Amino acid sequence: MSVRKEVLLDYTKEELQDIITPSFRAKQIWQWVYHKYVNDFYEMKNLPKDLQKSLQERFVITPLEILTVQKSMDGSIKYLFKLYDGHTVEAVLLLMRAKEYNDDGSLKHHERYTLCLSSQVGCKVGCAFCLTAKGGFVRDLTPGEIVAQLLMIKKENNIDANRRVNIVYMGMGEPLDNLENVAQAIKIFSDLDGFAISPNRQTVSTSGLSAKIEKLGKLDLGVNLAISLHAVDDVLREKLMPINKAYNISSIIDAVKKFPINARKRVMFEYLMIKDINDDLSAAKKLVKLLSGIKAKVNLIYFNPYEESDFQRPDLSSMVAFQEYLIAKGLLCTIRESKGLDISAACGQLREQNL
Ligand code: SAH
Ligand code: SF4
Repeated sequence: MSVRKEVLLDYTKEELQDIITPSFRAKQIWQWVYHKYVNDFYEMKNLPKDLQKSLQERFVITPLEILTVQKSMDGSIKYLFKLYDGHTVEAVLLLMRAKEYNDDGSLKHHERYTLCLSSQVGCKVGCAFCLTAKGGFVRDLTPGEIVAQLLMIKKENNIDANRRVNIVYMGMGEPLDNLENVAQAIKIFSDLDGFAISPNRQTVSTSGLSAKIEKLGKLDLGVNLAISLHAVDDVLREKLMPINKAYNISSIIDAVKKFPINARKRVMFEYLMIKDINDDLSAAKKLVKLLSGIKAKVNLIYFNPYEESDFQRPDLSSMVAFQEYLIAKGLLCTIRESKGLDISAACGQLREQNL
């Protein structure tokens, strides 16, 4: 049986400095990989031949393979990746703002991108409205598998190494159920010799594993936090999100209150609006109470339907009424545009695929 090689993308630069001699080579390798998107040690021209060879024998750089690419009408692109063991995960490049030019033809601003990354194959949490949950849980992604999603998407789209992008851990899986590997990926992404994506441009979205929220807070990485709340009373939340039996709403609120938040940031509360289930104003009223005293912003999400789903998309009028109520009460509240809906790349529509 062939022995699997180590994956270079699993390591932080500091770890690599301990592994590779002389250690200054680690920084050069990082620059080839993360700035020039090179995937072959023999192309790293400033490394001596014998080092190239020993690296090639020991490591693979990218552990993923792109299987399919789907482009949305709105400019978002969904990638299906194959993992070494044949399982698949998806990640999405979201075009938040197109490139714009001034009247004189000069560039006003570049495209603004957000990358939505997966952290697990499937998910254990089993939310009633989520397509990812339907396939059950398969396994955690390794740090390198998380890092590679972004690396390959940047390379495929010729996104310049120093172009700023945002990351949201909102693809497949529950990031806090794979905290160690997600934390490692956050560190790798933020290294100034690599992608240099500051933690305050990275958002971890969780279904509310309160104990892990506290753990993430203690790591003090500087990331943003998003809570998938979706219901304001425990009875309904338990029906929608069984995890609520273990971590109820008040435990989540307590954990959020302890979480270190960047002075200019807020904790995002995601509220998935499902027609006739949680879209009435009495819920909005309870939400205001619940969030009092927290530096919060609310992001209302349309339920995105998929085949065999039991729920329906809410009416625009109820979304707007809900939003207006929150704003009138002094809460920041936005309605999330569903990007990539035509290619099933929107929230909750990512799943493993058998090809
Ligand atoms: N597991 C994490 C992150 C991945 S899910 C979490 O739950 O937060 C990313 C977001 O998509 C979550 O807010 C989730 O509740 C939402 N989502 C799941 N299914 C959805 C659907 N069918 N329509 C819209 N949003 C959905
Ligand atoms: Fe898992 Fe998030 Fe889907 Fe819930 S919404 S099943 S936590 S991926």
